[in-house]
Amino acid sequence: MPLLSFRYTFLCWLLFSLPLTAFALSNTASPVPALDNYFKESLNTRDGLPHNTINALAQTADGYLWFGTWEGVARYNGREFRIFDRSPETGLPDVGVRTFHLDQHKTLWIAGSRGGLVRVKEGNWHAYPPLGVLINRLLLDKQERLWIATEGQGLFMQNSAGERVQYLGKEGLPSEQVHSLIEDSQGRIWVGTSDGLVYLDEQLQIQPVLPTQYNGVPVFALALNEQGQLLVGTERGLFLSPTLTAEPITLLDNVPVSALLFESDDILWIGTIDRGLLRQHDGITEELDIRQGLPNNRILALLLDSEQNLWVGTNGGVFRLRDAPFSTFTTDQGLAGNFVRTVLSHSDGCLYIGTSRGLNRYCAGVIDQIDLSSVSVGQSVLSLAEGPEQSLWVGTYADGLIEVSQGQVKRHFNANNGLPANEVRAVMPLSDGTVWVGTALGASRIDNQGIRNYGREDGLPSPFIMALYQSSDGRVFIGSGAGVAVLQQDKLQSLDLTGLDDADYAFGFAEDLAAGIFWMTTDRGLIAYDLTSGALHMIGRAQGMPFDKLFQLVLDKQGYFWISSNRGVLRLNRAQALEVIAGKRERIEFELFGESDGMASAQANGGSAKAATLHHDGSIWIATSIGVSRVQPERLQQFAKMLPPVVIEKLLVEGQEISFVNLQPLAAGTNRVEIQYAGLGYIMSERIQYRTLLEGFDQEWVNRGSYIAAEYTNLPPGTYRFRVAAAYPGGDWSQNEAELTLEILPYLWQRWWFQLLIVLVLATSLLWVIRWRLQSLKRNELRLLKLVSEQTVELQLLARQDALTGLANRRAFDEALQQEYQRAKRSNATLCLALIDVDHFKQVNDKLSHALGDEVLKRIAALLKQQSRAIDLVARWGGEEFVILLPDTSLAAAIEVCERLRQKLEQLDFSELSADLNMTVSIGLTTNDKLELPQMLLSADRALYQAKRTGRNRLIIADNKI
Ligand code: GH3
Ligand code: MG
Ligand code: MG
Repeated sequence: MPLLSFRYTFLCWLLFSLPLTAFALSNTASPVPALDNYFKESLNTRDGLPHNTINALAQTADGYLWFGTWEGVARYNGREFRIFDRSPETGLPDVGVRTFHLDQHKTLWIAGSRGGLVRVKEGNWHAYPPLGVLINRLLLDKQERLWIATEGQGLFMQNSAGERVQYLGKEGLPSEQVHSLIEDSQGRIWVGTSDGLVYLDEQLQIQPVLPTQYNGVPVFALALNEQGQLLVGTERGLFLSPTLTAEPITLLDNVPVSALLFESDDILWIGTIDRGLLRQHDGITEELDIRQGLPNNRILALLLDSEQNLWVGTNGGVFRLRDAPFSTFTTDQGLAGNFVRTVLSHSDGCLYIGTSRGLNRYCAGVIDQIDLSSVSVGQSVLSLAEGPEQSLWVGTYADGLIEVSQGQVKRHFNANNGLPANEVRAVMPLSDGTVWVGTALGASRIDNQGIRNYGREDGLPSPFIMALYQSSDGRVFIGSGAGVAVLQQDKLQSLDLTGLDDADYAFGFAEDLAAGIFWMTTDRGLIAYDLTSGALHMIGRAQGMPFDKLFQLVLDKQGYFWISSNRGVLRLNRAQALEVIAGKRERIEFELFGESDGMASAQANGGSAKAATLHHDGSIWIATSIGVSRVQPERLQQFAKMLPPVVIEKLLVEGQEISFVNLQPLAAGTNRVEIQYAGLGYIMSERIQYRTLLEGFDQEWVNRGSYIAAEYTNLPPGTYRFRVAAAYPGGDWSQNEAELTLEILPYLWQRWWFQLLIVLVLATSLLWVIRWRLQSLKRNELRLLKLVSEQTVELQLLARQDALTGLANRRAFDEALQQEYQRAKRSNATLCLALIDVDHFKQVNDKLSHALGDEVLKRIAALLKQQSRAIDLVARWGGEEFVILLPDTSLAAAIEVCERLRQKLEQLDFSELSADLNMTVSIGLTTNDKLELPQMLLSADRALYQAKRTGRNRLIIADNKI
C-alpha cells in the first residue's frame, strides 16, 4: 500500500507537475529511501576480512553472513569475522573462493580455485573431489542436480550420487568459460558463457537462444523477475527477455553488468564492472559509486540480508547500505559545508541547515543552497528562525542578522545599524513583529520603535547569548554564558542556578507544554524549571547522566528526549525524567547514539540556536561537526520489532575453546565455563541486548546488556541447559533462542552412591567408636568408684583419727564414750574413764622446740597405746591431754592400768631427743557409778585437777560422792 501511494504520487507529479515541495513531502513517507538516506559503511581487511576482493556473498538460515574471497571464507556475526581456509575441516583444496550457492534446503555450497567444492550444513563441512579448474558458479536445480560452471572446462552436472557429466563445445556450449547459471520456472537451466547465452532443455540438451544481442557477448549475470522473465546482464548492457523468442528489451545500454539482485519486484540493484552500483526503480536509475563512498567501482556480488541491509561485494572490500537509525548529510549530498551549526524546520515543509560555509535547504531528498553572498561574504551561518509570513531569519558569524523572504534579502541588521555585535547566535522573531536577537556582546529587541539593546547593566548575567525562547506564558528566556535571564514585564531577572552544580552555560531551551516544565540544557546537565512554581531541578551526573555538557533537547512524538552533545546524541525517556524531578526516581537511564548508528561524527555543535530540531515528519535533525544527522524515531521502533536470531559461537572450558557439536560431558572438577554467543542482526549489531538462563543454576533470566559472553565458575556437577535470547533495544526477546546442554561429571566422591557409601562407612565407624567409648567409660567408672570408695574409707578414717599421734580423735572418742556408756548402763557394767595430762609440757615447747614437743607427744601416745589393754580406747583429748576409756573394767582394775601407765611414762627415755628430758603425767580416774555422762566427765576432770594441785605425776581417783 505505501508502495502504491508512492507510485500514485509519482504519477501525479508526472501528470500535474506539482511543485517540487509537494512531491518531496510524499516522498519522505515512501518505503523506498533515497540512496542518500542509507547509512553507508565499508568493511575490509582492516576490519578482519582475509582479502579485499569479495567474490561471493550469502546469508545462511542461522543468520550468519558469509563472504567468499581469494583468501578463504569469512563468516560474519556483525562484530567479527571467523575465517575458514584450506584445512582438513573445510576440505577446500585452495583458499580461493569464487562463488556461493544457497540451495532450496538452505545448504551453503562453496566453490572456487582448483575446482574446490564443499557443502556446509549445520556447521559440518563436506568436501567433494575437486574439479581441478576454477569454478565460477554453482546451481542446485529443483531435481537436486548440481550445475557447475567452470573457467575453461565448460559445464558440469553432478547428480545426487556425486557422478558428473561434462558439457563442452561439442555438446553445444558456445564457450567453455561459463560465468552464470539460473533455473527458470519451467526447469530450464540458462547458461551464460563468455560467448553468449544458451539453455538446457528438458532432455538436458544445450539449445541456442534466438535473439542475436547475446552472440559473442560475455553473459555475467542472470536473474528472474516476479513474472518469471529473464534478465540478462552482459558486458554490453542489461536486457529483459520476456519470452524465448521475443526480442529482448534493453534496460541498460552499454553498461557492463556483473551482478543482479531484486530487492522487491520493482527495485532492482545492478552491480557493474566499472561503474559501481545502480538501482532501478520505476524506470529511474540511481547511481552509487566511489564518489558516494563505494570502496571500488567493480562489483562482484550482491546480497540482501534478512533485515533488508544490502551488502555489496567489491574489489575493495564489502560495502553495505544499512537502514541505520541515523543518516547524515554532508557536502557529499550537497551541503555548503560540513560544519553545521543550526537547523530549522520551516513551515514551508523544508529543513534549513546553517553551515559555516553557507545556508542549505533540504526539501524531499533534494538539497539546494540559498545564496547570501550579497550580504554575507563568508556566509557563515550561526542561527536560524522563522518569522511571520514564512520569513527566514539568518544569524551569521560575521555579518549580523539577515531576513530572507521569498528568496530575497529583506532586512539586514548589523553592528553598523544598531546591533551590539555582528556575531548573531540566536534569533527569535515574535508574531507581533518584534525580533529578539542574541549576539556575542548582548541581546537586542527590534520592533517598529527601533533597536533596544540589553547588556550587563540591564541585568544580563553575561552578554554572550546562545539561546532565546518565549514560553507559552509570554516570558522571554535568554540563555547566556553565565546562566539564564528571564524578561517579564520589561524587567530582566537572573534565574539562580547556583544550587544546581554551578551550571553556567545555557545552550538550549525546550518547553514541555504538557508537563508545564521548561527544559534547559546546560554545561552541567539538564535543568527543569517549573513554569508555575518556579522550582528548579537538576538531572545531571548525580542523576545518572553520562557527561555534563548538553546542547539542545528535542522531544519526539514517541515520548523521548533527544539531546545533542559533544559525545553523541542521548535518548532519555521523558516519563523517567519527570519522575526524577518529582523525586520519585533516583537515576535516569539513557541511550547514547554515535558514529556506529549512522552519524558521521558524534560531536554535535551547540553554541548557537537551534542546534537540533524536530521536523514535521517526526524526524530529528542535529547539527554536528560533520554534516547534519537525522534520526527517525519511528524507524528505530521498527528496528526494535526485528528479532535478531541468536547463535552460540564458542564454548570455553577453563579458557580453552572446545567444540560443542556432539558435546561430551565435561570432566569432573571443571571450574570455569564460558559461553560466547551472538545475535545475528546487522542493523545495530552492537546494540543487540542479550539475556541468558542457565537452567539448573539460575533461578531466572539474567540480563547481559550488550555483553556477548556468559561465564560460570564453580558449577557443581550436574546437567545444565544454557539458553540465550537476543533483542534490539526496546524490542521483544527473540523467539528463536539458542541453547546448549552441558553436563559436568562428578568426581567419584561427588557421586551419590559413593557419598551414600561414605555415609554408611562413617555411621558404622561412629557406632563402633561410641560402643568402645561407652565400654571404656564404664571401666573407668568402676575404677573411679573403687578409688572413691577407698578414699572415702580413708577419709572416713582420717576424720576419726588424730593426725599427729594416730590415736582416735576427740570425735571418735565421744562416739565410743556414748555407746559404751549406754551399753554399760543397760548391762549394769562398770565403765572407767581416765583423763591424762602431760606435766609441764609447755616448757618442752618453750625450752626445746614445738617440733620436738610434737615428737614427745607422739612417743607418749605410742606408749599409752602400747600399755593399755585391747578393750581400752586411748584417744587424744586435745593438746597435751589424752583420755582412756576402760569398758567393763572395775575401778580396781582401772587403777592398776593407770598406775602402770604412769610409771611406764615416768621411766620413758627421751634422751634421744634431748639430754635430761623426762616426762610425767597426772591422771584423773573416774567410774560411771551412779553418774550421768556429763557428771562422769566432770568428775574425771576434777580428779585430774586435784592430781595437778597435789604435785603432779600421780593418779587421783574421783570421789564420786562429792
Ligand atoms: P601443767 O603441768 O599444769 O599441765 O603444765 P603444762 O605446761 O603442761 O600445762 P599448760 O596448760 O600450761 O600448757 C600446755 C601446753 O601444751 C601448752 C601448749 O603449748 C602445749 N601443747 C598443747 N598441744 C601441743 C601440741 O600438739 N604440740 C606441742 N609441741 N605442744 C602442745
Ligand atoms: Mg594441760
Ligand atoms: Mg599439762
